[in-house]
Amino acid sequence: MDLRIGNGYDVHALAPGLPLWLGGVLIDSPIGCIAHSDGDVAIHALCDALLGAMALGDIGKHFPDTSDEFKGIDSKILLGRVMELLTAKGWSVVNCDITIAMQRPKLAPYIVTMRECLAGIMGIPSDRVSVKATTTEKLGFVGRGEGCEVYAVALLSKS
Ligand code: MG
Repeated sequence: MDLRIGNGYDVHALAPGLPLWLGGVLIDSPIGCIAHSDGDVAIHALCDALLGAMALGDIGKHFPDTSDEFKGIDSKILLGRVMELLTAKGWSVVNCDITIAMQRPKLAPYIVTMRECLAGIMGIPSDRVSVKATTTEKLGFVGRGEGCEVYAVALLSKS
């Protein structure tokens, strides 16, 4: 069995009055991500982890933020496209682990829904999709509420 690991990282700035999409789920929040797409920073980091495992570049290469095609796009569609690429190359996702760093709002009530949503798009059981949320104890740009930062790791296999 061939195994590949990939990691992804993404940051978006936050601003009042924008929708906050994370892990494919709309979060009840007075602030949201500034972005060309819907700003789902968790999905973007996950896509980069999957692409990274295949050494296929990054999300910006596949879905440029200069293209009108991707303006305001639902990031779930982007993840679906990455999965098509992955499947076409004979890979499947073993598991993934995502850490969202955000000072507020509290994300705990949304974690299970995010896991189920992402698992559905990737076609794997939700016990193979981990989503964790942390604050940064009010330190740095995340702690000041200026941005949301996400780390993702994904393992792929091919038999
Ligand atoms: Mg992004």
